[in-house]
Amino acid sequence: ITFDDLALAPTLLRALDEEGYVRPTPIQAQSIPLLLEGRDLLGMAQTGTGKTASFVLPLLHRLAETLRPAPKGGARVLVLAPTRELVSQIADGFESFGRHLDFRVTTIFGGVSQFHQVNVLKEGVDIIVAAPGRLLDLIEQGLCDLSQLEALVLDEADQMLDMGFAKPIERIVASLPQDRHTVLFSATMPKSIAALVDSLLSDPAKVEI
Ligand code: AMP
Repeated sequence: ITFDDLALAPTLLRALDEEGYVRPTPIQAQSIPLLLEGRDLLGMAQTGTGKTASFVLPLLHRLAETLRPAPKGGARVLVLAPTRELVSQIADGFESFGRHLDFRVTTIFGGVSQFHQVNVLKEGVDIIVAAPGRLLDLIEQGLCDLSQLEALVLDEADQMLDMGFAKPIERIVASLPQDRHTVLFSATMPKSIAALVDSLLSDPAKVEI
């Protein structure tokens, strides 16, 4: 199959074409149709399999399908990832595939001043890609309000738990609406991840490659 078979918005197909993407990888071919339908999804996949585009493309499609203003101080989509590098890489994916769409994405991570991050949030963004520690900091300072969130992605969830982010994730999730679209990717499936899946996802489709 090709990306044209996946019922993605023409603006996304154009960006894919410009990036030289022709065929979806197996994780993309399986995940994209499920996520376009709004199913919660548990994806077992490693880096290098194309897992980033497998959630970035359908989430952009759904944002574009239901246009509404970016919530001030918050966002419509939140992606949590373990490291600053991965956060930046995922945000680049949203920018690249979303180049023909009108939306705002921002990154939040520690180790730098929060000043700029807070100013961007005040204006409102569509998509936040964040490392859990700094994001929880901003939420607890009252500087980020995710009560309007529509979709949550946890990328490399096993690595986030290994890095001690279980509590911050739990507290971030407690500030989100219950009724939301949730996606979790993990390379491994220890008991701690199975428990996280049970608590966060609702009747998830499972994709394993
Ligand atoms: P990821 O596993 O998401 O980190 O992606 C690994 C690499 O594969 C990235 O450099 C992507 O740009 C590239 N990639 C992902 N999906 C495709 C695709 N369908 N066609 C060509 N390259 C891809």
